[in-house]
Amino acid sequence: MLTHLSLRPSFGFGDRLGLATPGHIAAVRGTKFAPIFAQQSVRENVRTGRTPQQVIDDARRAVETAKWDLPWGADADHLKILDDLPPFVEAGYTFFTVDPGDHVDNSADLDSHEILQQKVANFNWDELSALYLNHNEEQVWGQFAKSPKGETESFMRAVVKYGKAIQHTCSMFGYLSQVKDQFDFEVSVDETDSPTTPLEHFFIANELRRLGVRFTSLAPRFIGRFEKGVDYIGDLNALDIELEKHAAVTAYFGTYKLSLHSGSDKFGVYPLVAKHWGEHIHVKTAGTSYLEALRVLASHEPDLFLKIYSLGRECYEVDKLTYHVSASLELLPGTNDLPSLLNDFHAREMLHVTFGSAIAKFGLELKSALIKHEDAYYEGLRVHFEKHLDLLQDKNESG
Ligand SMILES: [Zn+2]
Repeated sequence: MLTHLSLRPSFGFGDRLGLATPGHIAAVRGTKFAPIFAQQSVRENVRTGRTPQQVIDDARRAVETAKWDLPWGADADHLKILDDLPPFVEAGYTFFTVDPGDHVDNSADLDSHEILQQKVANFNWDELSALYLNHNEEQVWGQFAKSPKGETESFMRAVVKYGKAIQHTCSMFGYLSQVKDQFDFEVSVDETDSPTTPLEHFFIANELRRLGVRFTSLAPRFIGRFEKGVDYIGDLNALDIELEKHAAVTAYFGTYKLSLHSGSDKFGVYPLVAKHWGEHIHVKTAGTSYLEALRVLASHEPDLFLKIYSLGRECYEVDKLTYHVSASLELLPGTNDLPSLLNDFHAREMLHVTFGSAIAKFGLELKSALIKHEDAYYEGLRVHFEKHLDLLQDKNESG
C-alpha cells in the first residue's frame, strides 16, 4: 500500500535505473524499516531522463510482482521551488523533501557581530529575541547552546543563517497542504556549506512548529564529510557526540525523525545512528544501487563496463560540480581486476557522480544487461542492503 509513513523508522531506496526494487524488497523484508521504494530528486530526474510518474510506476510494478503488501512510500526528493511540486503531487508521491538550501545564508557562520546586527534587522528580531532569549524558551535554548555567554550571538547566527530558508519551507508546506490531505514532509539542509549545529537544529524545528509546518523528518548537515557511495570521512568520536546532541533536540520535540542523507555505504556511522536515534530514524540511499548495477557489469559484461568507466573519466570533472566528492582521477587504480574497482574509493565516486552521462549514452545497453543478469543484480543488492540494515538496527533494542 503506497502511503505516508509518519514516524515509523524508514529507509529510502533510490533507484535511478528503475530495475532495483526486487533486490530492495528482498533486503528490507522482515526488518523494522518501512521502505521508500520510489525516491528520486529533481536533479536525478533531469540526469536520468525519467519522470516522477515513471519512477513511481517502476517501483509499483516490482511491489505488485513481489506481493509486498505492507506500507511503502514514494519520496519526491530535494524539491527546491514551488514549480517542482506539481508533477510529484500528480504522480501520487507520499513523501516530500523540501530543500531550502538556496535560501540559507552560509556566510552567517563567519559574520562579525556588527554584520549580524544589521542582518537580523531583516527579520522580526524583536519578536524572535523576546521569544527565545527572554522568556519561556530560554531554558531549553540554553540547554543546546555551547556556552550561555555566547547565546545571543549564536542565536543571531541561527536567525540570519536559516531565517529565509524557514520562510521558504513554510510556503512549500502551505502549497502541499492545500492539495494533499496526508503526506510525509521532510526538511533537508544537508547540502549547505557548513554543518547545522544542534542549537540551529533546535531553532529550525521550533520555528517550523511555531509556524504550523507539520514535518515528519529533518535532515541537518552533520559534521565531517558524507560523500556519495563511500564511508564517512571525519572523526567518528566527534560525530558520536554530535549525533547524540541532535537526538536530544529531536527527543525534546518528539514529533519527527532525524534523516541521514547520502546514507549509502556509511558503515562506520550506522551503529552510532542506531544507538542515538533509535526509532526516530530515516536513511536515504540512491547511488549505491547504481554502483551495484555496475558491479554486475564488471563481472558479467566487462566490455560495457569499460565503456562506462572511460566515459566516467571524461565526464567526472564537469559532472562532479553539483556534488560533494573528493575523488581524484589521478588516483584511479588500473583496470586489470574490474570487480575490485567497485571497492575503490576514487572509482566509486567517479562512477557515482557520472551516472547521468552514462545513462544518456549507454542507458539501453545497461538496462538490457541488467535484465539479462537480473538474478545476480537482485542478489548483489540484497546482500549489500542487508549489510546496511543490520548495522542500523539498535542492538540493545532487539536484544
Ligand atoms: Zn540530500
